[in-house]
Amino acid sequence: MEITSTTLSNMFAQIAEAMAREKDRLCELDGVIGDADHGIAMELGFSAAAKAVQALDLASAEPTLVFNTAAKSFLNAVGASSGPLYATAFMRAGATVKGKPVLDDGDFAQAFIAMARGIQERGKAEIGEKTMIDAWLPAADACEAALSTGRTLSECLAAALTAAEVGAEATKAMLASKGRASRLGDRVLGHMDPGAASAVVVIAAMQKALA
Ligand code: ADP
Ligand code: MG
Repeated sequence: MEITSTTLSNMFAQIAEAMAREKDRLCELDGVIGDADHGIAMELGFSAAAKAVQALDLASAEPTLVFNTAAKSFLNAVGASSGPLYATAFMRAGATVKGKPVLDDGDFAQAFIAMARGIQERGKAEIGEKTMIDAWLPAADACEAALSTGRTLSECLAAALTAAEVGAEATKAMLASKGRASRLGDRVLGHMDPGAASAVVVIAAMQKALA
């Protein structure tokens, strides 16, 4: 499919809507193993990003500017640790599509993969440390595998979503070694990581917006 800056703007609006719906659940998850603000942070960040992107002249703004605008406004809006992580993700996506006036399926899939790698490089979390990385990395791997076998973007993102859901579910059995939850020892067992849960929300909204 042809993905324009307008498509991306609609995508950010859909993620923001999804976060507004999921805000309370994400705060509850963060209340168990963190400081109960994760839903607020994600809703604030994505509504700021969506608003800033909508304010661009989307007919002339290239996709790289859309991602960079989202990154800047997300970072400014969010004081929690998810702020710089998602800002880095969008910066990396922007760098990946630099110079392209419109994106094809492969371009967006590469931007998606770059988001996950950016989060990992910024936060230095590995798989199994009970963070959003446990959802994002398997999602990126699944997207890459689907892309390499010639799947459409919608199929790539559907595979990514399934992998993210499995990864988020798996965080219930993990101890935390990054972020606030790392101070709680085995009290975190049995509880899903809020950042992994919100990653599923982000990826689901992306999949829906680009289907
Ligand atoms: P804070 O912990 O500052 O309140 P949030 O509540 O917005 O920030 O986000 C918490 C989530 O951030 C955690 O559930 C975890 O998924 C994620 N997180 C924390 N530290 C890292 C890290 N170093 N790398 C990746 N994700 C992280
Ligand atoms: Mg928090």
